[in-house]
Amino acid sequence: MKREFGVQTKDLAELIDITAEVQEHLKASKIKDGICVIYIPHTTASVCINENADPSVKSDINDTLDKLIPRDGSYSHSEGNADAHVKASIIGSSRVVLIESGKLLLGTWQGIYFCEFDGPRKRKVVLKFLGS
Ligand code: ZN
Repeated sequence: MKREFGVQTKDLAELIDITAEVQEHLKASKIKDGICVIYIPHTTASVCINENADPSVKSDINDTLDKLIPRDGSYSHSEGNADAHVKASIIGSSRVVLIESGKLLLGTWQGIYFCEFDGPRKRKVVLKFLGS
């Protein structure tokens, strides 16, 4: 079962907590046991799972990626968003989360983040639920 939803990003780079939306779609799918694939069909955005309690974790991730892969670094790609392509590749375009009793099996402090690296843009998140 495939589902999708839109994300409107507001900044050049930001992490947006999409855990609630994914859980909502899981509930509608009626799948109780299985796996959920979260897939981002973009080349300058990605998805990660990390702490969603302390908001400074989000900015630490972005700030660290910026130091490692600066926007104004020396790249061959002429669009001016080479850093976003590299960041998206490193973080990755998909994640798999286990489903148990109709819920995403996430740790207490874990959340699913849509990672924007070349915003603001209108983005898409694709979900695939496998199970019964
Ligand atoms: Zn590009």
